[in-house]
Amino acid sequence: MSAERIHCQCQDTQTHFLERAFDSLQLGDAQRELLLSSFRETTVSIPVRLHRGDSHELQTYLGYRVQHNHARGPFKGGLRFHPSVNLGEIRALAQLMTWKTALVDIPFGGAKGGIAVDTTQLDAHSLEILTKRFVQKMSPVLGVHHDVPAPDVGTSPQVMAWILEEYSKTHGFTPAIVTGKPIELGGSAGRLEATGHGVAFITGLVAADQSLPLADASVVIQGFGNVGSHAARRLAEMGARIIALSDARSGVFCNAGIDIEHAQRHVAETGWLENLPGTEPISNAELLVLPCDILIPAAIEATINCENAEAVQARLVVEAANIPLTHRADTTLRERGITVVPDLLANAGGVLTSYYEWVQNLQEFPWEHDTVIQRLEKRLGRAYQQVCNLAHQRDTDLRTAAYDLAIERVNRAMALRGF
Ligand code: NAD
Repeated sequence: MSAERIHCQCQDTQTHFLERAFDSLQLGDAQRELLLSSFRETTVSIPVRLHRGDSHELQTYLGYRVQHNHARGPFKGGLRFHPSVNLGEIRALAQLMTWKTALVDIPFGGAKGGIAVDTTQLDAHSLEILTKRFVQKMSPVLGVHHDVPAPDVGTSPQVMAWILEEYSKTHGFTPAIVTGKPIELGGSAGRLEATGHGVAFITGLVAADQSLPLADASVVIQGFGNVGSHAARRLAEMGARIIALSDARSGVFCNAGIDIEHAQRHVAETGWLENLPGTEPISNAELLVLPCDILIPAAIEATINCENAEAVQARLVVEAANIPLTHRADTTLRERGITVVPDLLANAGGVLTSYYEWVQNLQEFPWEHDTVIQRLEKRLGRAYQQVCNLAHQRDTDLRTAAYDLAIERVNRAMALRGF
């Protein structure tokens, strides 16, 4: 599927899910329009001289920050470096952050940012300059109590460290300006693995409710970056058999179960899963329709769509990535009786731990790893229970219940503040 089509699907899907919840909540047109509008959308151009041999070629990149809603607290959301980043995609992802922070009940709103860049074409020095210029241009709209970025696809703790450095040049040392930082600069214990850990934790809760024992359940994971690799590792620790994994290049399969630590070492050494010893090659398209108990899309948007949804053979689909199903695929899976755990719940462990990092920075008091993980599981478990109760009470699916709950909280905050 082309990048352009993915973006259209991503916006359409987000709007469709919201409209479904708006109908369920019987909201009027004016309220719908308000909830769909961004508070502010900022686009900047970022010129960088790239070193190519002896020449210095000038390249200009486009950077975005969409701040959707801050009724419940400062804007919060990741920063994505990917060639296909565009305003529409970032807008949809910013909206999703508003509902996610409300669902897990942390005092943040929703935002998202990104730069349309192929980071594989940049050396570390150019990437550092690009990141710091982005911060220079965006700094009027950022702030510890205004907008706090975090990592997403293509960004890392190192990128967060560059953001901290650039912002601190004009504001003094300000670790709370960004989350997902290296521990040495005020990052939180547990943040690196938090999103994947949360995905595994929620998967365990849903599987138990579905009478699907995790011990020896077969699991397929698309995407082996931060989220996919940590989810795979934790699920394997919980007894699941990870039978297939993939990255942007290709996938690997082993019915007896893949050794995740081995796969992580192989990727660290070679950059890709390809040729992982003890596995057979498989394409991303084949991977998504493998017979399995649990399918976890943990890569990019719209990978499960109308082209493959009928062929999905999992009992449970857990959205570790943001918006990995198109709304048509979501309908197809629901009609086929496949349970879908929505992104705003499944991958909320990341923003929850970002919140804990921000709190530790404001308190200037770091917490132990166990404290972070215990608090993460407690809040995620509570959100899951609230979503299940509402889904049962309103006789609806987990996604609509999660959106209902989140929208009601945002609406209430807007009404109280007189937005
Ligand atoms: P990442 O860059 O660390 O990893 C992405 C992985 O997906 C890589 O293995 C990459 O090779 C693979 N990939 C990219 N394009 C692909 C394609 N077309 N087909 C198959 N695989 C592909 O990113 P991440 O941080 O792990 O984020 C993954 C997803 O999780 C994204 O949707 C992101 O928005 C979401 N998410 C991330 C966090 C976080 O804390 N990092 C939090 C919440 C949600």
